[in-house]
Amino acid sequence: MGLLSQNAWQVSIGRFVLLIVAALLLGLAIGQVQLALLLALAGYVAMSLRSLHRMQRWLGSRRRVPPPEDWGVWSDVAHTVFERLEQERSRKHRLVRLLRAFREAAAVLPDGVIVTTLGREVVWFNEAAERLLGLHPRRDRGARLDRLLEHPRIRSWLEEPGFPEPLLDVPAPHDPAVRLSMRLIPYTRQQQLLVTRDISNLMRLEQMRRDFVANVSHELRTPLTVLHGYLDMIDPEDSPEWAPVVDEMRRQSTRMARIVEDLLNLSRLEAQAEVVPERVAMGSMLSTLQREAEALSQGRHRIVLEARTRADLSGSTQDLHSAFSNLVSNAVRYTPAGGQVSIGWILAEGGDAEFSVADTGVGIPPEHLPRITERFYRVSASRSRDSGGTGLGLSIVKHVLNLHRARLDIASEVGRGTVFTCRFDAAQVWTEGMQEHAA
Ligand code: ADP
Repeated sequence: MGLLSQNAWQVSIGRFVLLIVAALLLGLAIGQVQLALLLALAGYVAMSLRSLHRMQRWLGSRRRVPPPEDWGVWSDVAHTVFERLEQERSRKHRLVRLLRAFREAAAVLPDGVIVTTLGREVVWFNEAAERLLGLHPRRDRGARLDRLLEHPRIRSWLEEPGFPEPLLDVPAPHDPAVRLSMRLIPYTRQQQLLVTRDISNLMRLEQMRRDFVANVSHELRTPLTVLHGYLDMIDPEDSPEWAPVVDEMRRQSTRMARIVEDLLNLSRLEAQAEVVPERVAMGSMLSTLQREAEALSQGRHRIVLEARTRADLSGSTQDLHSAFSNLVSNAVRYTPAGGQVSIGWILAEGGDAEFSVADTGVGIPPEHLPRITERFYRVSASRSRDSGGTGLGLSIVKHVLNLHRARLDIASEVGRGTVFTCRFDAAQVWTEGMQEHAA
């Protein structure tokens, strides 16, 4: 292009110089130099204006034809413009193709994708979103998300500020057998994505796992009771040589029975979506826990009760007792003789309530803390077994607290002790206006 434009300029300037020289010579010949120059310049300007006019017409036309070659330097300018336009056009086509490919990919994704504004107004959604959420492409674009998704759980989830934790296991609007998970993802500064996934198969598998554990535990219960009964009938004094064996069998069968009970308890807790609220009298709960700790410790530890509030909780007395007593029994079991176990109950700032169990025991190394509430997760399997643990205590604690919308915090230092704190939301603290559910 550079060479072309240089040539065009040279030719144009050459022509102009030639015109002026010719006009000058003609002027000299006829003795009218000024008139000849004026006419030549006027002619030149007229030609240029004509070229400019043609170029303007060419630019204005929608047809994609290259400019003619005979406008001198104007052709050159027009060529540059034409080439730029062509580049722009092909760039635009490339972008459109890419955008279409992305849209097509998003459209056929198995997950439902809805693009919304930050004000939760629907901008676009794919076919899977139509299928999973019963949306209609024409009707529902531009609608507000909370009008389209009316399930109370989805609504209150959408009302949470910012980007809440993913929502799990909500029924699809048109078919409650289809279970969905939803996740809000920031997308651009003005938009966000709502990704919906069909997790029916996953939930079915999870249900199968739960049923299997519950059934196995249930089936084991009867044979264990029978075994236990017969073992109890054997009098070690009848055959002293079998006494240690019978003793060990009794211990192991008791342990198995406890594991089965804990597993059944966990299955029941897992199957529960929420607890039937009742007034949980914390005064008597705390004294029961203290008595249990003393019985388990048998004078080997100092058991301290620090109840700084008379507040009660709203929830299930039975489940909360099971959770708290697991924490207390752990504290006693993992604290060597001579140590201290403190049971605390306080009302924190903002009306939240905290139940805590602190011990001066062996502590938990920090790397184990993230997994400590998993089933059968133990820091030391032998120590857990020796102290009569089932490995399910903290899982039960976690499930009970989840059902009561409470959090478990663990602070521990190896060799110095551990503090387990159950933090209950102020809404979970019993107030006089609350209705006790008649059980
Ligand atoms: P287990 O029946 O084995 O005690 P848990 O679920 O109650 O099972 O506890 C899981 C593991 O957490 C225990 O095996 C133990 O290693 C650790 N742990 C629980 N409580 C304490 C505690 N108070 N001090 C030290 N370690 C603890």
